[in-house]
Amino acid sequence: MADWKCSECGHSKESRCKPKKCPECGSSKGFAKAENAPETCE
Ligand SMILES: [Zn+2]
Repeated sequence: MADWKCSECGHSKESRCKPKKCPECGSSKGFAKAENAPETCE
């Protein structure tokens, strides 16, 4: 698991891979990696 932070609202989400959409604000602008995590899901 890694922490991802929404670049729009700052909401952080714990996910194994990069979230496509923020569950909080619905933004798909992107997520910043808060910890070492793979960019893509294999
Ligand atoms: Zn957000």
